[in-house]
Formats: sequence, structure tokens, C-alpha cells
Amino acid sequence: MSDCLFCGIVDGKIKANVVYQDDAVVAFKDIAPKAPVHILIIPRKHLVGVADVGEQDRALVGEIFNVAAKLAREQGIADSGFRIVVNSGADAGQSVFHLHYHLLGGRQMRWPPG
Ligand code: 5GP
Ligand code: ZN
Repeated sequence: MSDCLFCGIVDGKIKANVVYQDDAVVAFKDIAPKAPVHILIIPRKHLVGVADVGEQDRALVGEIFNVAAKLAREQGIADSGFRIVVNSGADAGQSVFHLHYHLLGGRQMRWPPG
């Protein structure tokens, strides 16, 4: 999508600190980190949010979790624990409308989230 910030990062038109990419997924550091490790994992394909995911995206969603686990190991938070957050829609506070998975770790998380 031409006016989508994260499509701009996928296309390399907008700079980001990319930590992983393959033919389906890009992962980059969040510009305003909420934890010592805060990485966003996104599909290259423009999906708005979780409600946009369909049967055809089963493998893609699996790959995102595969990448999340790999990055958690690389970042040294696999054993201490981490959180995957997907804000989907207005009530969840989604601010960028291209599906993204927050990988958060390196500090104690609170529950329930606000
Ligand atoms: P949401 O609130 O939609 O769940 O998360 C959007 C995330 O994108 C926020 O954590 C925000 O800090 C991050 N973000 C917004 N703009 C940019 C940007 O230009 N570059 C990067 N790397 N992260 C961004
Ligand atoms: Zn997009």
C-alpha cells in the first residue's frame, strides 16, 4: 500500500534498523522501545490486522512465530521470558495499520496489560 509506513519499510523507502528479513517477513527495532528488547515483526504482505488474516496466510503466521522464537534466542530473552503483542484495531490501540507483532523482553512484564 503506497501510504503505509510499514510497507515503506518493507520496500526500503523508509529507514529502519532491520534485524531479520526473508521472503515473507521483515523484523526491525521499534523506534520508541517500551522494553530493552522491542522488535516489530511484520509480513511483507500488507494485512491491516489480525481480522485481515485468512486461510491463505496460515504459513505466513507460522513463519512470524518461527522468526519471533529465533529472535528471542538471538536477543538472549528466550529463557528469561518475553511477550508477543499484537494490537489489532482501535480498541487495542493499534496505531500503524499494517499487521505487526511486538516482541518485548528484557524486563519484568505486568499483567493485565492496560
Ligand atoms: P501499535 O501501536 O500499532 O501496536 O504499534 C506501532 C509501533 O510502531 C509503535 O510501537 C511505534 O513506536 C512503532 N513505530 C511507529 N513509527 C515507526 C517508525 O517509523 N519506525 C519504527 N521502527 N517503528 C515505528
Ligand atoms: Zn502496509
